[in-house]
Parts: sequence; C-alpha cells; structure tokens
Amino acid sequence: MSKQPRRPGRHFLQIPGPTPVPERILAAMSRQILDHRGLEFQQLGLRVLSGIKGLFKTQGHVVIFPASGTGAWEASLSNTLSPGDKVLMCETGQFAVLWVAMAARLGIKTEVIQTDWRIAADANLIEQKLRADKAHEIKAVCVVHNETSTGCRTRIDEVRKAMDAVRHPALLMVDTISSLACSDLRHDEWGIDVTVAGSQKGMMLPPGLSFTAISAKALDASKTAKLPRSYFSWDDMLASNATGYFPYTPATGLLYGLSEAIDMINEEGLENVFTRHERLAEATRRAVRGWGLEIQCRDPKYYSPAVTTVIMPDGHNADAYRKLVLDTFNMSLGTGLNKIAGKVFRIGHLGDTNELTIMGALTGVEMGFELAGVPYKKGGVAAAMNYLVETASPAKAVAA
Ligand SMILES: *Cc1c(COP(=O)(O)O)cnc(C)c1O
Repeated sequence: MSKQPRRPGRHFLQIPGPTPVPERILAAMSRQILDHRGLEFQQLGLRVLSGIKGLFKTQGHVVIFPASGTGAWEASLSNTLSPGDKVLMCETGQFAVLWVAMAARLGIKTEVIQTDWRIAADANLIEQKLRADKAHEIKAVCVVHNETSTGCRTRIDEVRKAMDAVRHPALLMVDTISSLACSDLRHDEWGIDVTVAGSQKGMMLPPGLSFTAISAKALDASKTAKLPRSYFSWDDMLASNATGYFPYTPATGLLYGLSEAIDMINEEGLENVFTRHERLAEATRRAVRGWGLEIQCRDPKYYSPAVTTVIMPDGHNADAYRKLVLDTFNMSLGTGLNKIAGKVFRIGHLGDTNELTIMGALTGVEMGFELAGVPYKKGGVAAAMNYLVETASPAKAVAA
C-alpha cells in the first residue's frame, strides 16, 4: 500500500449517506460503556424510544435494531409475511432492486412495476395493479420513499390514496432510509404500516442503527405471519422496550448519539429541517442546470430533497471524474449504481448540511469539470449562489 498524503482541512463527504456526524453528536457518544440492564440505561432507552416517534409522526411503536437499514427491511418482511405471499414493489432504482431481491430470497413472490430509473413510484400504476388484484393476493405494497440511487422521491400520500381508492387491504411498507429527517413523513396520517429508516443519512449518526415504525395493522399481521425470524422478531423487542430495555445488548454508544440527534432536530424544528433540505436541493439543481447538464430525475414532481443525481456528458466516465475530484479537492461524491454506474454521479445534500457546505461542494464539482475536461457551461455555482442569496434569512430560535 502506498502512503496516503496528508489532506489538510476537512474531507467533503458529499455522498448521500453515510453523512458527516456533527461535533455535538460525536461528543455525546464519547462516553464510558454503561450497564444496559441498569437504571441509567433505562432512562436513555425510554428517552430515545419516545423521542424517535416524533420524527415518524407516529403515536405507535418504533423499534430500534442494532443493524443497518437492510436489517430493518428484513425484519419488516419476515415479521409480517408468510412463505409464498405476494408483494407489489416498484423498481425505482438500485435500492428497490435490492429490496426485491431480498423478498425473493425470503420466499416471497414479487410483482414488480418497472420504471426507467428517472422517476419515482407512480401511484396510478400501483392503483391499476391493485384494482386488478380482485382476490387480494397482494399482501404488501413496498415502496422506496427517497430512491437514493436516482434522486427521485415517491409521493407516499398519493400511494395511500391509490390503495384506499380500490379499498385494497395490503400493508403499505415504506423505505425512508435516506428521507427520515430530510423529507416530510407522516407514518400515522398517511396510513403507513411499516416505515423503515437508518441512522447514517438524514439522522447524522454513524451507521449501525435502524428504526422501524409499526402500525397496529402490521402488528396484527405479525401475530399470524409465518416467515421465520428470531433476532429480528418484533415481539421480543417490543416486550423489552415497554420498560426502556432491549432483549439483547443494545448499541449504547449510538443511542447516546441518537438522543443528541433527536434534540438537535427538535431544536432546529423538524419542519425547518425539511425546508433547509428543499432549499439546498433546489440550489444544487440550479447549479446542474447552470452547467448545462441533465438531472437524472426527469420529472420535477419527484425531485429529491436529499440527493441530486447528475448525468455525465456522453463519453465522460463519472467514476474517473469522481476520482479526480477526490484526489485533487478531497471531496467524495456518490457513485452511480448498477445500470447507471459510470454514467452518473450523486451529490448528497442531506443531514448536517448548510449553505456554505453545499457551495463548497458545488464549487468542487465545477472545478472538477474544468480539470477533467468535461464539457460544461460556467455559471452553475453562480446560479446556486444567487438562489441562496435570494432566499436567505437569518437563523431564528424555535419555541420549545
Ligand atoms: C442506504 C439505503 C439503503 C441501505 O441501507 P443500509 O443502511 O446500507 O443497510 C436502503 N434503502 C435506501 C433508500 C437507502 O438510501
């Protein structure tokens, strides 16, 4: 291995998760280990289990597995479904592809609505499929809220309306791994049955925790669902959580961090967190248009507040460009996944991000184009700056 050069200043981690962890959270996690069966842990457990509900806008249960988001996916399927059950999924991009593959491995039949990976899940198509399913063979509709590979966000409220319009009894499962604390999410109001999220994206934490909000209907389904599960069994978890504890050793360090992250989000105000994400996303899209380049998401209705996927001009490899930016300007941009590998790169603007972070990132992107000889128009950075100035306002404290 060759010796790595020292890189002064901070690394710009502009991938759409994991995202940089704020100092306050790093400090909160830097604590001695505690007894996870003791009273001090109980207070922490009760605090985070209750605090996390606000972010899902639910009065119901939210379980926290020490696992990445993928673990919570597995828990969601295995706790609610039986072998041979059918689910309706929508291939919005790579994360949807992975969820479909997991369902198949678990012995679930999948019916998949295809897309060109440039839009999110279309509620009308879901409605058509459900209308055709007269026998109610479809047991769950699974959609990715923010498809992190393409930067397309599904309208979950419309999916709910579509399901209600045909009075279909399927469960609604939503992957919000890259949208929790980035984009409005109303678990109860939107009638979501299982909402899955993770720690390392909008939540500004290190990887390692997953969050799952569970409706009463999903909990009912879990009583009769036959897929095997053990570590990921919701009932063991909920039984222990009732008193603030976990059925096995919880990731205590990450839970200190989670408690701090919830406080930080509430101090800023959850709705302000969403507005900030929408604004930085719009600045990023203005930069892309200013460069004369195309955004992967082709319908503004589906624009993501968390990530913008940029299509590279023909004949230019996005990964070679990303490597040049990393080696020269110490910034990591997101890679293209699966069938769009090498053709796109992704700019993450989620989590602990502000105007100057995103301007630094966009400046690095533009300088990278110049250096790599990528054909682009000057003025993307200026367009983003103009938008941020036009919409600027001083920070205000939020009433507690
Ligand atoms: C990151 C991500 C995943 C995978 O989550 P892990 O925490 O890596 O297991 C799944 N879905 C979406 C939408 C994601 O952004």
